[in-house]
Amino acid sequence: MNIPVQVTAKQDISIQSGRPSSEIKLSPEAQQDVHQAYLVTLRQRFKTEINRLTRGDMFELLKTHSSDAEQLSFIMTYVYAWHWLQQNVHSQFQHEVLKAFANGPQAFLMQLILRSDQSSDFIEAYIEHWQNYNGEPQLQQQQILQLLQKFGCKKTLSQSLENIWNELNLFNKSFAEGYKDLAKQEKQRYAEMLGDEDKTRLKLVDQLPDVAPLNLFSKAGFIPAMGCPQTCRHCMFIFRPLMKNTDDPNTLYQMVNKLTTSVLFTGGDLSKHLDHFYNAIANMQHVTTFAILLNGDFADSREITESILNKMASAIRRRSITWPKAKVHLQISFDEFHQEVVVDRKGNLKERIPVVKIANIVEAAPKFYEEIQLCLCHKQSHLNFSMELFQRGVFARLAKELARRGHKIEIISTAPSARLKRNPLNPATPAQVIKDATFVLDKYPHAYLMLTSSTIDAYGRAEMMALHEAVNERDLLKQMLDGKGTGAETFDKDLMFWFNGWATLFSAVHINLGNVFEEGMEVIRQRQAKDPLSNAMHRFDITLLDFYRELRDDLDDIIKKSTGPHHLFHTITDDGAMRLHMTQRLIEQNKFKNASIN
Ligand code: SF4
Repeated sequence: MNIPVQVTAKQDISIQSGRPSSEIKLSPEAQQDVHQAYLVTLRQRFKTEINRLTRGDMFELLKTHSSDAEQLSFIMTYVYAWHWLQQNVHSQFQHEVLKAFANGPQAFLMQLILRSDQSSDFIEAYIEHWQNYNGEPQLQQQQILQLLQKFGCKKTLSQSLENIWNELNLFNKSFAEGYKDLAKQEKQRYAEMLGDEDKTRLKLVDQLPDVAPLNLFSKAGFIPAMGCPQTCRHCMFIFRPLMKNTDDPNTLYQMVNKLTTSVLFTGGDLSKHLDHFYNAIANMQHVTTFAILLNGDFADSREITESILNKMASAIRRRSITWPKAKVHLQISFDEFHQEVVVDRKGNLKERIPVVKIANIVEAAPKFYEEIQLCLCHKQSHLNFSMELFQRGVFARLAKELARRGHKIEIISTAPSARLKRNPLNPATPAQVIKDATFVLDKYPHAYLMLTSSTIDAYGRAEMMALHEAVNERDLLKQMLDGKGTGAETFDKDLMFWFNGWATLFSAVHINLGNVFEEGMEVIRQRQAKDPLSNAMHRFDITLLDFYRELRDDLDDIIKKSTGPHHLFHTITDDGAMRLHMTQRLIEQNKFKNASIN
């Protein structure tokens, strides 16, 4: 079969450049750290890809496409490496990234990769290298000579290798194209929210007998805005709907005020919506925990940061002394993804959100420790598997920046995750992962600062990340699919209230229980208590998988790509017709169960 040759040529732009955050000027030392971080991260990623592919992943990919999979695995690993480099490393930095591998037996491969303008150039140069080789016998040479014998000549062999590569269908979509497709799907998903199928579904829920008394909310979320100018690779969102917000969020605050003591402001980048947060602190008498998740982009300077934290603290101090004592939980995203170093179109290295901004926040927070508890929210990576978490990567950059300002970080304690997980660099054996940590700055030994970490679920932009790029919950998924449950892990069905009135679940913004402004809080509360679908998701009821199969035949593919139970349950419910079907089936099933009991 003659398959058209897929040509990937070298490119001059970095596909993953995020839109820069508000510009701040870094010191030469901090800029040097950024440069170093870029090289270290990309070298690590490159090495991980090569190791994974040479240890069997390339053979697995090839075995259904060629009877010569064994002989082809090595060369195809480096064809993959050539493509990976074009997609992930700006051409200006490719030499520097590969310099770390310039010695040793694989050095010639780096030379060939760098010299090749197209993957076909690399294939031909690789074959020639072994044709002209006169040194000690090598397995790779033997493999190429065997292939040459089989295919007759270099030209035919090269063409066959290109064809097999194209059949693998890898790197067939740029990040930009992939994100565009995903954004379209997300837009469609939002368009279906509270559409005809959801309305029919909610009617069915409303017809179920009411629950009394209703529980209070253990927490409630507020979404003042969904937009974010950043483009983190692991973000759950690409498309974000424009919301027609209420002019008076205080009405919403008062509806929620009596129902919970804990609220979380979240959504997109809330840096420009902080007044809403201060107002909530001033007006929600019964709430004692005011959490807000920010990406840290607001912290342009030490002065700006201190003034914003002061506003949060002042809002707490201004509450009536007769009201319950409250505290701000300031959650700041801080990990290898938010602080990823990207290349802009001019070839400059930049962090999406500079570590210097996070240092501004960490430096200011202890001054307000009576009113503000700072918690850095971190996405788990290979570093979480040892104390290297604090000695390398983004945390080390933070420690260095703080040291330049005269601070020393002291780690007070660490706590492991309840479950063993797999290190993406060494996935064979599950190992303990550091989930939480407490640390202080030496000048403020009593002001405890926290770090908590979680895994990445592959929805939104994260769908374009490979499974092996981050820590995942595939073991928990397997446990659940084997019928052994998910332990204490649940799908969070607490409610998030959008400023347009929508009430959606914490773990799934596509499960919408109605509009609180139009239908009233009591209707929404009854739905949260009664909705068979939210309740089944909450307990990860695998009956939903059977119901999914009744309408679709792609469940096995979805399971293959799922990063964990949350991701799987999210994916199988993201379509309005499926939500309606599952709700109907759960209601029928409950009727049948009740009839059998009676
Ligand atoms: S992960 Fe956070 S900072 Fe990054 S794009 Fe998403 S919302 Fe913005």
